[in-house]
Amino acid sequence: MPEQPYLQVKGLSKAFGSGPNAVTALKDVSFTLDQGKFLAVLGPSGCGKSTLFNIIAGLMAPDGGDVTLQGESLLMRPGRTGYMLQKDLLLPWRTVADNITLPQTLRGIRRRRALENALEDARACGLEPLLHRRPDELSGGQRQRAALVRTLQSGKPLLLLDEPFGALDAITRLHLQELLTSICLQKRLTILFVTHDVDEALLLSDSVLVMGCQPGRIIGQYDLPQEKPRTLKTLALPRLMAVKAEIMALLDQEVKQHAKE
Ligand code: ADP
Ligand code: MG
Repeated sequence: MPEQPYLQVKGLSKAFGSGPNAVTALKDVSFTLDQGKFLAVLGPSGCGKSTLFNIIAGLMAPDGGDVTLQGESLLMRPGRTGYMLQKDLLLPWRTVADNITLPQTLRGIRRRRALENALEDARACGLEPLLHRRPDELSGGQRQRAALVRTLQSGKPLLLLDEPFGALDAITRLHLQELLTSICLQKRLTILFVTHDVDEALLLSDSVLVMGCQPGRIIGQYDLPQEKPRTLKTLALPRLMAVKAEIMALLDQEVKQHAKE
């Protein structure tokens, strides 16, 4: 028997509304992801990326299709994946320490022990001096670092990151991208990452899934030819520039097609 894929997304479809207002958010979306790999889902706003993640996270039922992790369905089973969004969703009344330890304390681990467990990730993300602060005392980048550590502390085998750095300025974003790359390589994390930024996808991932709109569907898939970690310098290498040009042409064609409709 052939070995089953680690994560398998098979024939997912999802529509919202009915009649002339109906939106096909996902149509026959299928792909696989190996353990320890980083897949970027790239596409214009409104093409169904968050819908796809909500289904994989078990928060939303699809109209058809299935998602399995090591052969077990994830459909409508929340809590099997770690999920991080553009909005950090830190609890404002809790300190950074209490926010990042939340996934553990919810599992019944004592606060002190939970903090000991979280300290390595907190240090790696430069949060140690900020542990006593509350979210409104942090910058946008610091908040996202705290949200990242909390997501890592979920201890889930598959992490879904939905445009986590989308609201940050370019320099802060680059810093977080480097941080995420080094943590992923060190821990061999399996990551699905949504972005609408081609450079971000090329910087972070092993492969890129390109989506188009209405219906939300996969219009291209690329395995990236360059070893990680990548830097802005490696993005300028001809073989990555060639992939970027192909992806840009694909997205351009997609956008123009919609403008005509
Ligand atoms: P993306 O994350 O790629 O920007 P979404 O998955 O959020 O896209 O949305 C895909 C499409 O489905 C959009 O046209 C959006 O308006 C629509 N949509 C998403 N969620 C809902 C919902 N709960 N009800 C109605 N339409 C929705
Ligand atoms: Mg979205």
